[in-house]
Amino acid sequence: MGFATTAIHSGQEPDQATGSVTVPIYQTSTYAQEGLGKNKGYEYARTQNPTRSALEQNIAALEGGRFGFAFASGMAAIDATLRLIKAGEHVVVSDNTYGGTFRLFTRVLANYNVEFDFVDTSEALNVEAAIRPNTKMVFIETPTNPVMIVTDLKEVSEIAHRAGARVVCDNTFMSPYLQRPLEFGVDIVVHSTTKYLNGHSDGIGGAVVLNDETDAEWIGFIQNSAGAILSPLDSWLVMRGTKTLALRMEQHDKSGRAVAAFLEEHPKVRKVYYPGSASHPQHALAKRQQKGFGGMVAFDVGSLAAARTVLEAVKLCTLAESLGGVETLISHPATMTHASVDVGKRDRLGITDGLVRVSVGLEDTDDIIADLDQALNAVSG
Ligand SMILES: *Cc1c(COP(=O)(O)O)cnc(C)c1O
Repeated sequence: MGFATTAIHSGQEPDQATGSVTVPIYQTSTYAQEGLGKNKGYEYARTQNPTRSALEQNIAALEGGRFGFAFASGMAAIDATLRLIKAGEHVVVSDNTYGGTFRLFTRVLANYNVEFDFVDTSEALNVEAAIRPNTKMVFIETPTNPVMIVTDLKEVSEIAHRAGARVVCDNTFMSPYLQRPLEFGVDIVVHSTTKYLNGHSDGIGGAVVLNDETDAEWIGFIQNSAGAILSPLDSWLVMRGTKTLALRMEQHDKSGRAVAAFLEEHPKVRKVYYPGSASHPQHALAKRQQKGFGGMVAFDVGSLAAARTVLEAVKLCTLAESLGGVETLISHPATMTHASVDVGKRDRLGITDGLVRVSVGLEDTDDIIADLDQALNAVSG
């Protein structure tokens, strides 16, 4: 079955009781039992909920994995995944990872005697050098936010596996339509479904997909024990989103490429960060492991003043954090998403005061470009 067919049908058979073509929202906390120890496989809704199960099956199928778990947020999904790691163990992490992930690892999990090393995983040799006898996980984000650094999933997976460590990939930026990490040897995929999977900016959620039965059992055990589950309504909203994921990602990708090409030619733009650009240092790798380049584009206008002008002059684009929705969002990483990263590291990563990030939405491409054009032309000099 093709991707779009899987997205529309996997986990979404018509309801047995009524024939409802969409999975019902089972808004219940518990289930009537027929007798002691006799039930329909549902006892309590933290443990099992049919709407959530349908979504979990759906996302697992989209990533080509055996087991899926839906969580209350992307961070809850990442937190549950890190529960595979025990005190005294070590994790190697992409050094330009999502800020919330960095905060969880360094401020929370580090208190439990889990060790983290942050390296530029786009150079596989850095991963090899960081591995220690107690390394049990390599956590990658590719492409990274916001400067779109790409990591070779296959190469890093081989290095990690030789050392007996699992590989986790945060696939939020690409979605399974544009990148399927498990096919390159990655063991576990995590998502913030808040972004492209939901796609409509109307819910927070997360997911974990994996193949290994033992690890899956533990993730399921954590999901039930710690209880950071996705609600029935939010599960339903994400399923509503995945039905159009293929179509939406095609358009995000098409407009993303057009916006990046437009920015590359604009006299007020110093630099464009987009793996689809021939000038991107890892363009060839991105082409090999991604089906497209998506809708995330960052560009540098040279100064905080110029960035402020652009961000305040846009009319169609909305100034906001987050990404992956139908509406084009524009943001300023240095003061918004990456404000907690120290200045030295920001500079090293290219997250300058002049950097602007766009999540290219699904409005008409020409309208998005016209809005960015008028905003850029408002920059003096
Ligand atoms: C948003 C995001 C997260 C966190 O997800 P929430 O749903 O906000 O908890 C994790 N990773 C990436 C790449 C993200 O963009």
